[in-house]
Amino acid sequence: MTTYRETALTNSYEFTAGAGYELPEYPFVEPPELHATTPVRHPVVIVGGGITGLTLACSLARLGVRAVLIDEDNTVGVKGASSRGICYTQKSLEIFERLGIFERIAAKGVQWSVGRTFAGDDEVYSFDLRQQGQYHLSQQPPFINIQQFYIEGFLVERIQELGPVDLRWQNRLTGFEQNADFATLTIETPAGTYRLEAEHVIDATGSHSPLRKWLNVPFDSRRGDDRWCIADVRFSTHPPQERHTWIEAPFNENRAVWQHLMADDVWRIDYQMAPNADPEYVSREDVVRERLARQFGPDVQVEIVWVGPYAYRSECVHAMRHGRVFLMGDSAKVVSPFGARGGNTGVADADNLAWKLAAVLGGKADATLLESYNDERLDAARQNVCVTNRTARFLRPADGTERLFRQAAIGLAKQHPFARALINTGRMAVANPYARSRACTYAAASAAGQSVQNVGFEWADGAQGDVNDLLNWAGGDLLVLVFGDLPAAALQRLRRLCLDAPVRSVQVLGTNGAAQALEHVRDPQGHLRGACHVLGQEPDHAWALVRPDGYLAATGETINAQLVAAIERSLGLRGNQP
Ligand SMILES: Cc1cc2nc3c(=O)[nH]c(=O)nc-3n(C[C@H](O)[C@H](O)[C@H](O)COP(=O)(O)OP(=O)(O)OC[C@H]3O[C@@H](n4cnc5c(N)ncnc54)[C@H](O)[C@@H]3O)c2cc1C
Repeated sequence: MTTYRETALTNSYEFTAGAGYELPEYPFVEPPELHATTPVRHPVVIVGGGITGLTLACSLARLGVRAVLIDEDNTVGVKGASSRGICYTQKSLEIFERLGIFERIAAKGVQWSVGRTFAGDDEVYSFDLRQQGQYHLSQQPPFINIQQFYIEGFLVERIQELGPVDLRWQNRLTGFEQNADFATLTIETPAGTYRLEAEHVIDATGSHSPLRKWLNVPFDSRRGDDRWCIADVRFSTHPPQERHTWIEAPFNENRAVWQHLMADDVWRIDYQMAPNADPEYVSREDVVRERLARQFGPDVQVEIVWVGPYAYRSECVHAMRHGRVFLMGDSAKVVSPFGARGGNTGVADADNLAWKLAAVLGGKADATLLESYNDERLDAARQNVCVTNRTARFLRPADGTERLFRQAAIGLAKQHPFARALINTGRMAVANPYARSRACTYAAASAAGQSVQNVGFEWADGAQGDVNDLLNWAGGDLLVLVFGDLPAAALQRLRRLCLDAPVRSVQVLGTNGAAQALEHVRDPQGHLRGACHVLGQEPDHAWALVRPDGYLAATGETINAQLVAAIERSLGLRGNQP
């Protein structure tokens, strides 16, 4: 019997091939603390400069918060130039737009909205995300495909442009302790070891998080024997730009295959392997070429950019805060790659915590607001783990009922449209709603906890604007959008509120209607109203309290004590439990 070396269950790679990608290298600069006699204390130290840590650093920099980010590496991506995330969701793209890197992503990446799923030679299911109501109003497309390291590189450039965050490469966290007032970090560099203190520590060290081990963080874990091998390739011919997935690919021994176009004309093809396949063998160049020839024909010219096998696990911590440490991205949860939820939810974790840290450090919110990070993002993490585990079970069903169900679903889907919903090759990531947050006010029929799409409207002078413009203008404060006419007393109350609290308000009018507030916009097609989930027609009064991360803290009808209470709650000033 042949015994193969186990693939490391790390969602990373051991055996790789191909010319690889060229990644930027950032210089090591001696940190000033190296020669300090007493440790310097920083408000925020971010450990890990992957997509999650860098998004947080960029968000904080944009809000003017000083922070230090350390990373043990001197580049973006993974050493060995491995291929990881490719699909970025509308919500992430909206966040990146606020951070000022969306244009660069759109220019480099590939937009797609059509997905097709095949079993054998039959197409069993297809969709066009642009036709789906939840996607088509945003200024950002449903998805962009781009190699993860490009986004990380754009974030680094942007952080450097913005200023307040100190990026420290080749700085490895090797020791940690914390007390009620601060944490102390021991950091190793090529020039020696130093210590620094932090009021808040962000663990963005990914799925091997050392902090998670040191803090003894409890988590749930699940692993299987599903094995995949990625081939990043350039072709002499061009398959369609759509996302194609095969549940059973005739050219891959009836196992699954994914096919996506990324930046630089590189196609990412993921092949499902036999359980316990030898990772070294499946990523050998001749074996990869043979697989590609089976799919695209013997004559196709293929340049192999990068190849690597992977296995996956799913994990989720029980809590995303441990004293002064906030876990985010893969250090908090690891999901299978199906549905593009790993990186995208790391970006959302970062966007969630950034404005809260900025508000607390800026004295605008109470420190208890930080507890809502756990309420909101742990719930999201659990949802994402659950959704991706279901897909993983569909793609690698256990023998017995699971396999029987899959066969029945495929058979039915080929014949009957109703059964297509049962085909699960990955439920693409969405902005997770927050249903149990102490920072949201859940009145009956309210849309609290929903994400607001980056829809367009008209400024008072007729120019085009969008929700992100309003959030940028609010500069980290809460935004009250008031729809329709306002009684004089309400207008006065609103003015008072904006003077007393970190709140900016804007009146949203329809096509007609006279402006009563200096800050007003027009929403002739009702897109802004719809994005805020505020139902009803003019002249109905309604308000939406929008947070700096584009989520609704509360909605209501009249400018009264309810709005005041909702503002207080969303700043942690009412000690409510979730
Ligand atoms: C095959 C595959 C396909 C995927 N496809 C997608 C996709 O399409 N879309 C998507 O959204 N996600 C996808 N993912 C998931 C995505 O790649 C991860 O979820 C994402 O990289 C997690 O980012 P992170 O910043 O949390 O962690 P990481 O990217 O792992 O970054 C952690 C960082 O911490 C640093 N670090 C670690 N330890 C220390 C230390 N002690 N001191 C200092 N620094 C340290 C590391 O150098 C690294 O830079 C995919 C993953 C795989 C494997």
